Amino acid sequence: MDKHTQDFTEEENEGYVKIDRYNQERIDAIATHYKDILEQIGEDPTREGLVKTPERVAKALQFLTHGYDTKPEEILRSAMFKEDYSQMVVVKDIEIFSMCEHHMLPFFGKAHIAYIPNGHIVGLSKIPRVVDAYARRLQVQERLTNEIRDCIQSTLNPAGVAVVIECKHLCMSMRGVQKQNSVTTTSAFTGQFAKETTRAEFLRLITAGLH
Ligand SMILES: [Zn+2]
Repeated sequence: MDKHTQDFTEEENEGYVKIDRYNQERIDAIATHYKDILEQIGEDPTREGLVKTPERVAKALQFLTHGYDTKPEEILRSAMFKEDYSQMVVVKDIEIFSMCEHHMLPFFGKAHIAYIPNGHIVGLSKIPRVVDAYARRLQVQERLTNEIRDCIQSTLNPAGVAVVIECKHLCMSMRGVQKQNSVTTTSAFTGQFAKETTRAEFLRLITAGLH
């Protein structure tokens, strides 16, 4: 097992996995750079409030990008069950916290996901975990949307997958155009969701959560 993955072995808990183990070697390397950055922005990294900041930031960064150490397909495969149910399954209002790869600033919001089973269903808690596995990386919202769709489609092989994500991007609201309240919405569909009526049904079911 290589060093990159050994500190992030997932516990077999249902739902979210709290990852609070860190690779100290990586933390130290990242922290060294953050100390330099503090100096470069005109700060004094030796003053009391900042002494431990490089290490804290390094740990935060490692947590915020722990998705690289996950295998989303395996998360789904660990809880797939044969079932005849063939109506739409919707999981809405899944919280998302990710970081844009252009500015390394957070974007956050909600994901709404549906699939139409085709012989198998999946444990409902696994869908938010798949969202997290892709969100906890450097991302763009468009790719995040497609990756979640493709993972569910290729692993579960349902009759259709729908993913809608709505997020606020701090790189838009804190800098650049400084639009505080704009929300970016992305969507991706497969299979039966190409049909207008099926997609309308999904959108109707999630609309209460859209804002
Ligand atoms: Zn950005």
